Amino acid sequence: MATDCDFLVIGAGVAGLRAAIELAKAGSVLVIAKDSLRESSSEYAQGGIAVALSDDDEVALHEQDTLYAGDGLCNQTAVHTLVEERARRIFRI
Ligand SMILES: Cc1cc2nc3c(=O)[nH]c(=O)nc-3n(C[C@H](O)[C@H](O)[C@H](O)COP(=O)(O)OP(=O)(O)OC[C@H]3O[C@@H](n4cnc5c(N)ncnc54)[C@H](O)[C@@H]3O)c2cc1C
Repeated sequence: MATDCDFLVIGAGVAGLRAAIELAKAGSVLVIAKDSLRESSSEYAQGGIAVALSDDDEVALHEQDTLYAGDGLCNQTAVHTLVEERARRIFRI
């Protein structure tokens, strides 16, 4: 296994892979994970994304829904940022 790289990304979920895609523009990237590369929450995600994509939808509703599903564990500021920025970012590969 090659271990020389410009960037080391720890974690092969959606966050790590997104970072790897961006970093690949600037150099070689090595992605590592603690188990198999496919063993992550991203692999188990059921496909629903809290985002307001149409004019008859509202960011605030997705924010409330996410906080409700989080059952008090969510960072409210992080949830707000996530739900608000998703519409702009969802179509990026
Ligand atoms: C059953 C299930 C259903 C879900 N459904 C949805 C959904 O419908 N919609 C939605 O938006 N979200 C959903 N989620 C949440 C979503 O999957 C996560 O928010 C998202 O995948 C997190 O991505 P991540 O890259 O931060 O973490 P992960 O995908 O968990 O990736 C973490 C990575 O880090 C690696 N890692 C961890 N510890 C170490 C270590 N010590 N050393 C090296 N590597 C390590 C892991 O191996 C893994 O590769 C769901 C989650 C689960 C579990």
